[in-house]
Amino acid sequence: MSNLKELHHWDVMVLSCIDGRFVKRVVDWVATQQNDVFDYRTEVGCSKAIIDSGIDRERFFSAVDVAKRLHSIKEIWLVDHIDCGAYGGSKEQTSAESEREFHRNKLIEAQKIVSLKYPELNVKMIYASWDEIEVI
Ligand SMILES: [Zn+2]
Repeated sequence: MSNLKELHHWDVMVLSCIDGRFVKRVVDWVATQQNDVFDYRTEVGCSKAIIDSGIDRERFFSAVDVAKRLHSIKEIWLVDHIDCGAYGGSKEQTSAESEREFHRNKLIEAQKIVSLKYPELNVKMIYASWDEIEVI
Protein backbone atom coordinates (compact mmCIF):
# COMPACT_ATOMS: atom_id res chain seq x y z
CA MET A 1 0.00 0.00 0.00
CA SER A 2 1.54 3.27 -1.07
CA ASN A 3 0.59 6.72 0.11
CA LEU A 4 -0.54 5.66 3.57
CA LYS A 5 0.19 9.18 4.78
CA GLU A 6 -2.43 10.56 2.44
CA LEU A 7 -5.03 7.94 3.34
CA HIS A 8 -7.57 9.00 5.96
CA HIS A 9 -10.77 7.15 5.13
CA TRP A 10 -11.52 3.47 4.83
CA ASP A 11 -14.54 1.26 5.13
CA VAL A 12 -14.14 -1.34 7.86
CA MET A 13 -13.64 -1.70 11.57
CA VAL A 14 -13.17 -5.25 12.86
CA LEU A 15 -13.92 -6.63 16.31
CA SER A 16 -12.49 -10.03 17.17
CA CYS A 17 -11.80 -11.99 20.35
CA ILE A 18 -8.41 -11.59 22.04
CA ASP A 19 -7.66 -15.32 21.54
CA GLY A 20 -4.09 -15.50 20.21
CA ARG A 21 -4.76 -18.62 18.15
CA PHE A 22 -6.97 -16.58 15.85
CA VAL A 23 -5.72 -12.98 15.83
CA LYS A 24 -3.10 -13.30 13.08
CA ARG A 25 -5.30 -15.52 10.93
CA VAL A 26 -8.20 -13.09 11.21
CA VAL A 27 -5.99 -10.04 10.56
CA ASP A 28 -4.47 -11.72 7.50
CA TRP A 29 -7.92 -12.71 6.21
CA VAL A 30 -9.31 -9.20 6.62
CA ALA A 31 -6.17 -7.67 5.10
CA THR A 32 -6.59 -9.61 1.88
CA GLN A 33 -10.12 -8.29 1.53
CA GLN A 34 -9.55 -4.69 2.60
CA ASN A 35 -6.28 -3.89 0.85
CA ASP A 36 -4.38 -3.97 4.18
CA VAL A 37 -6.22 -0.98 5.68
CA PHE A 38 -8.87 -1.31 8.38
CA ASP A 39 -9.44 -0.51 12.05
CA TYR A 40 -9.07 -3.44 14.42
CA ARG A 41 -9.98 -4.07 18.02
CA THR A 42 -10.10 -7.11 20.26
CA GLU A 43 -12.39 -7.72 23.22
CA VAL A 44 -12.85 -10.96 25.15
CA GLY A 45 -15.48 -13.09 23.38
CA CYS A 46 -16.25 -10.59 20.57
CA SER A 47 -20.05 -11.02 20.37
CA LYS A 48 -20.15 -11.65 24.13
CA ALA A 49 -18.46 -8.31 24.80
CA ILE A 50 -21.32 -6.61 22.95
CA ILE A 51 -24.17 -8.74 24.31
CA ASP A 52 -23.04 -8.32 27.93
CA SER A 53 -23.62 -4.62 28.44
CA GLY A 54 -20.63 -3.30 30.32
CA ILE A 55 -17.23 -1.72 30.04
CA ASP A 56 -16.12 -3.93 27.11
CA ARG A 57 -19.10 -2.85 25.01
CA GLU A 58 -18.66 0.81 25.97
CA ARG A 59 -14.95 0.67 25.08
CA PHE A 60 -15.78 -0.83 21.71
CA PHE A 61 -18.50 1.72 20.98
CA SER A 62 -16.14 4.49 21.98
CA ALA A 63 -13.62 3.19 19.42
CA VAL A 64 -16.37 2.95 16.79
CA ASP A 65 -17.24 6.60 17.42
CA VAL A 66 -13.63 7.56 16.71
CA ALA A 67 -13.43 5.30 13.65
CA LYS A 68 -16.60 6.90 12.28
CA ARG A 69 -15.44 10.43 12.93
CA LEU A 70 -11.84 10.12 11.77
CA HIS A 71 -11.97 7.33 9.18
CA SER A 72 -15.58 7.44 7.97
CA ILE A 73 -16.01 3.68 8.36
CA LYS A 74 -19.10 2.17 6.79
CA GLU A 75 -18.98 -1.40 8.10
CA ILE A 76 -18.32 -3.29 11.30
CA TRP A 77 -17.14 -6.88 11.01
CA LEU A 78 -17.74 -9.06 14.09
CA VAL A 79 -15.54 -12.17 14.24
CA ASP A 80 -16.43 -14.99 16.64
CA HIS A 81 -14.35 -18.17 16.73
CA ILE A 82 -14.52 -21.86 17.58
CA ASP A 83 -13.49 -22.95 21.10
CA CYS A 84 -14.00 -19.47 22.56
CA GLY A 85 -13.18 -19.60 26.27
CA ALA A 86 -15.50 -16.66 26.98
CA TYR A 87 -18.39 -19.00 26.13
CA GLY A 88 -16.88 -22.04 27.83
CA GLY A 89 -15.15 -23.39 24.73
CA SER A 90 -15.95 -26.33 22.46
CA LYS A 91 -16.47 -28.63 25.45
CA GLU A 92 -19.80 -26.88 26.06
CA GLN A 93 -21.03 -27.84 22.57
CA THR A 94 -22.15 -31.21 21.22
CA SER A 95 -20.57 -30.82 17.77
CA ALA A 96 -18.69 -28.38 15.56
CA GLU A 97 -21.93 -27.75 13.67
CA SER A 98 -23.89 -26.89 16.81
CA GLU A 99 -21.04 -24.66 17.99
CA ARG A 100 -21.11 -22.78 14.69
CA GLU A 101 -24.89 -22.36 15.04
CA PHE A 102 -24.45 -21.19 18.63
CA HIS A 103 -22.05 -18.47 17.48
CA ARG A 104 -24.27 -17.53 14.56
CA ASN A 105 -27.08 -16.84 17.02
CA LYS A 106 -24.76 -14.86 19.31
CA LEU A 107 -23.52 -12.83 16.34
CA ILE A 108 -27.10 -12.08 15.31
CA GLU A 109 -27.80 -10.90 18.85
CA ALA A 110 -24.69 -8.69 18.84
CA GLN A 111 -25.47 -7.41 15.36
CA LYS A 112 -28.89 -6.20 16.53
CA ILE A 113 -27.30 -4.25 19.39
CA VAL A 114 -24.70 -2.66 17.12
CA SER A 115 -27.28 -1.84 14.42
CA LEU A 116 -29.55 -0.22 16.97
CA LYS A 117 -26.77 2.17 17.97
CA TYR A 118 -25.29 2.59 14.49
CA PRO A 119 -28.12 2.08 11.96
CA GLU A 120 -25.96 3.71 9.26
CA LEU A 121 -23.27 1.02 9.52
CA ASN A 122 -23.45 -2.36 7.82
CA VAL A 123 -22.64 -5.18 10.26
CA LYS A 124 -21.06 -8.35 8.89
CA MET A 125 -21.00 -11.59 10.92
CA ILE A 126 -17.92 -13.79 10.57
CA TYR A 127 -16.93 -17.10 12.11
CA ALA A 128 -13.43 -18.55 12.39
CA SER A 129 -13.16 -22.33 12.77
CA TRP A 130 -9.94 -24.36 12.76
CA ASP A 131 -9.95 -24.68 9.00
CA GLU A 132 -11.60 -21.60 7.59
CA ILE A 133 -12.94 -18.11 8.17
CA GLU A 134 -16.37 -17.46 6.70
CA VAL A 135 -19.14 -14.90 6.60
CA ILE A 136 -22.19 -16.45 8.24
ZN1 LIG B 1 -12.52 -16.18 22.27
